[in-house]
Amino acid sequence: MLAEFRNEPGTNFGLPENQEAMRRALDFVGENLGREYPLIINGDKVMTQDKIKSINPAQTGQVVGYVSKADQALAEKAMQAAVTAFETWRFVEPATRARILFKAAAMMRRRKHEFSSWMVYEVGKTWPEADADTAEAIDFLEFYGREMIRLSETQVLTRYMGEDNELEYIPLGVGVVIPPWNFPLAILVGMTSASIVAGNTVLLKPASVSPIIGYKFAELMEEAGLPKGVLNFVPGSGGAIGDYLVGHPMTRFIAFTGSMEVGLHINELASKIAPGQKWIKRVIAEMGGKDAIIVDKETDLEDAAVGIVTSAFGYGGQKCSACSRAIIHQDVYDHVLNRVVELTKALRVGDPTDPKTNVGPVVDKSAYEKIAEYATEIGPKEGRLVAGGKKGPENGYFVMPTVIAEVDRKARLFQEEIFGPVLAVTKARDFDHAIELGNDSLYGLTGAVYSRNRLHLEKARREFHVGNLYFNRKCTGALVGVHPFGGFNMSGTDSKAGGRDYLLLFTQAKAVSEKY
Ligand code: NAP
Ligand code: MG
Repeated sequence: MLAEFRNEPGTNFGLPENQEAMRRALDFVGENLGREYPLIINGDKVMTQDKIKSINPAQTGQVVGYVSKADQALAEKAMQAAVTAFETWRFVEPATRARILFKAAAMMRRRKHEFSSWMVYEVGKTWPEADADTAEAIDFLEFYGREMIRLSETQVLTRYMGEDNELEYIPLGVGVVIPPWNFPLAILVGMTSASIVAGNTVLLKPASVSPIIGYKFAELMEEAGLPKGVLNFVPGSGGAIGDYLVGHPMTRFIAFTGSMEVGLHINELASKIAPGQKWIKRVIAEMGGKDAIIVDKETDLEDAAVGIVTSAFGYGGQKCSACSRAIIHQDVYDHVLNRVVELTKALRVGDPTDPKTNVGPVVDKSAYEKIAEYATEIGPKEGRLVAGGKKGPENGYFVMPTVIAEVDRKARLFQEEIFGPVLAVTKARDFDHAIELGNDSLYGLTGAVYSRNRLHLEKARREFHVGNLYFNRKCTGALVGVHPFGGFNMSGTDSKAGGRDYLLLFTQAKAVSEKY
C-alpha cells in the first residue's frame, strides 16, 4: 500500500557522515566536468555540432559540460515523437504512470547528493540550497504520483434516476515544459512530472544556463522505465526553438516558469491559432515577484531581522519568493535596519563547494552585470547604501549582499524585480501604510508579516494581495503539499504548484452519461 505523502527531510550537514557523503558526491561530479550531453528524442540520444556551454558561475573558467542544442528541425522531430507517443501513453493506467514517478523518486533519493552537487557546480547553489532543491524534486514526484491516483478514483456526481454518470480526468496532449534555472531541478521536475503522470507527453526545454541537471533528470526517468517519446529533452535557445514550439499547432499546453517578460510573450504567442490547430492552448505561467516582508512595531524584532536576511540573501536573492523589500514600522525601523545590516555583513560570500559559504555567485554574466548595476549605481542613488554595494571575488559572478535604506515606493529598486542580492528597506508610518506599500507592486507572489497584533494579522490576511502569505516567518522555502505555491497579478496564473488543484491544469474532465 502507498504510504501517506511526507516531505523529504533536509540533510543535516552538521553530521560528519553527511558532510563526508556530500564531499564524495562533489568529488565525483568534479571528476565528471566537461563532458558532452545529447538531446533525447524518442529515446534516441542525438549529439549536435552546436552546443550550449554550461559554466560554473563561481569559477567562470570552469566548464561544467557541453550540451547539444536543438534547432527547429530537431524540435519538429521531437514534436512528432511526442505526438506519436501520446497515442499510447494517454491510455496507460494512471497508477502505472504514478509508479514510474515513485521509482524515479526512490532512485533520486539514493543519488541525492550527486544531484545536489551538479547544482552546486552548474548554478552556484550552496550545500543546503542544493539539498533543498533536490528534496523538493523528490517531493514533487511523490506528491503528483499520489495526486494522479486520487484524481483517477471515482468522482462524486449527483445521482440521477435511470442514468449511469461518470466523470474522468483525461490528459490534454503534448505539452511544452519551459523551466527557469533558479530551481533547475525542482521546478523542472515538478512541471515535467505533473505533465507526464497526467498522461501527457512532453518536450522539455531546460533553461540555457542549467541544461545538465535537466539532462540528469531525463536520464533518470528513462532508467525508471518511462517509455520512449513520452519525455523528449530538447535544450536550445528560448528565442529560436521556444517560439517554434509554443507556436506549434500540435502543442496543447505550455507549462512555463520564469520571468514576466517571457511569460507574457509566451501567453501572447500561444493565443494565436496556428493553421491546423484545433484547440485553445492552455498556458500555465508562473512569473516574477517583488516580495515584501512587513515588520510591525509589536513583534519579535530579532526574528524579523533574521527572517528578512534569510529571505533576501538565500541563494543570493535568486528566488521568485525572495524578500526584496523590507517595509518596517517607523517606531522599530532603526533597530531592525541595524540588525539587518549586521546580519548581512556577517554572511560569507564565496565558492559554494565550501560548506561554510552562505552566499554564492549569481548565475551568469548578464545577471551579474544587471545586478551589479542595481547594487553599485541605481541603488545608492535611490537610497542610503548601508551594506554591500560592490562586486565580490573576481573569479566568479559575485555581488556582495547589498542593503539600501529609505527607498521610496516610486524608486526602481522598490518596483523592479532585480533577482539578486539587493534589498530595499522602506519606512512605514503605521501598519495600514505598510500594507499599502506592500501592495504597491505589479507582482503578488509571496509576502510576510511579523506582528503580535492579531487584528493586524487579520487585516493582512484580508488585504495583503499575494499568493503565498506568511506570518511570523520568512517568505521563502515553500514546501510541497504544505504551502501550495503560485502568485497573483503579474506573478502568474496562480497554479499552486505542490497543491491539490495543480494536476487539474494538466487534464480535462470528460463526463460520460449512459441511459439505462
Ligand atoms: P526567463 O529568462 O524568463 O527564462 C525562463 C525560461 O524561458 C528559460 O528556459 C528560457 O530559455 C525560456 N525562454 C526564453 N525566451 C523564450 C521564448 N521566447 N519562448 C519560450 N521560452 C523562452 O527566466 P529565468 O531567468 O530562467 O528565471 C528567473 C525568473 O523566473 C524570475 O523572474 C523569477 O521570479 C521567475 N521564477 C518564478 C517562479 C514562480 O513560481 N513564480 C519560480 C522560479 C522563478 P533560455 O534559458 O534559453 O533563454
Ligand atoms: Mg552555469
